[in-house]
Amino acid sequence: MIPPGETIGILGGGQLGRMIAIAAAQLGYRCHIFAPEADSIAADVCAQFTCAAYDDHAALARFAAECAVVTYEFENVPVPPGGILGATPLLPHPRALETAQDRLSEKHFVTKLGGTPAPFAPVDDAASLAEAIAAIGAPGILKTRRDGYDGKGQWRIRTPQDAETLDLPATPLIYEGFVTFFAEFSVILCRTAKGDIRFFDSAHNVHDDGILATSTVPAPAPLLDHVPAARALAGKVAEALDYVGVLTLEFFATKDGPVFNEMAPRVHNSGHWTIEGAVTSQFENHVRAICGLPLGDTGLAAKGVAMRNLIGDEAHDWPAILSDPANHLHLYGKAAALPGRKMGHVTRLTLG
Ligand code: AMP
Repeated sequence: MIPPGETIGILGGGQLGRMIAIAAAQLGYRCHIFAPEADSIAADVCAQFTCAAYDDHAALARFAAECAVVTYEFENVPVPPGGILGATPLLPHPRALETAQDRLSEKHFVTKLGGTPAPFAPVDDAASLAEAIAAIGAPGILKTRRDGYDGKGQWRIRTPQDAETLDLPATPLIYEGFVTFFAEFSVILCRTAKGDIRFFDSAHNVHDDGILATSTVPAPAPLLDHVPAARALAGKVAEALDYVGVLTLEFFATKDGPVFNEMAPRVHNSGHWTIEGAVTSQFENHVRAICGLPLGDTGLAAKGVAMRNLIGDEAHDWPAILSDPANHLHLYGKAAALPGRKMGHVTRLTLG
């Protein structure tokens, strides 16, 4: 057990790190951010900040020596080579990072555990793309295997002819058949080192242009029918990875059952509603799990919860949002409200 007062290291300097650090502070921990960008919005709320590249092994070793445990807030952090962090544990285990960093290995992994992803095939060039489309059909989506997020690194392919005009990036890709779904949802769980697992309510997630727009709890009834099978799969993923902390799996609800989309070995945007809407938030439970504390109740703290992301200049609406006293406003402190950038979110509870 890592007692309050100790320092938690966080790889990554974005809003998820910021919200983990805020939850950690509430429990009496200090956080130390390690991130390559000088203007880290996570470091803004932490006492310690190492601004260095993820492959700066000497800086990583110094950072880890000052931390009781190290976690990460986004999955594209390069896995630190064995031994670099010394005796300081990295949680969730690096195997979860490795698995989730590559869309191809993630889909193979989940398929072996009995999950159903969209039909998929690896693509490296125009010839393998043509083969993938011939095998899977169009429409489909071509995605970079690594480093994609919020719909970045994705190309919709409506017809085989679309593919012919594409200027393929020189990076490993994956082609996925287009899934006809009636809704999207996520399963967010937290697992302790002893194997205790708690699930948060599954939110109904609506995406706009590949970016999460809203998460609503409770999800509508037809979607809730998919949750038990999706939870069973997420639980198997967590067991297989000997996972410690918060894990997220995203699903499409289809007429044939839940189709796995992707996993994130971390706290997730579709769980931001838990800050006010669950008895214990995803951030606090992540901290509890990696520090070896008992988990808090993941149940609902309200009858219903709605979270809306503030993307780009939507964040400029904050005076109007605050003029409604029922709104909980979260702004991440990012300097430029660029289009497509997550600047904050607003949560509303339905009480009684
Ligand atoms: P991703 O980054 O893979 O989560 O994709 C972002 C969003 O694009 C998803 O939440 C879906 O709305 C949509 N999307 C991604 N892959 C597919 C697919 N194979 N079929 C249909 N929609 C998809």
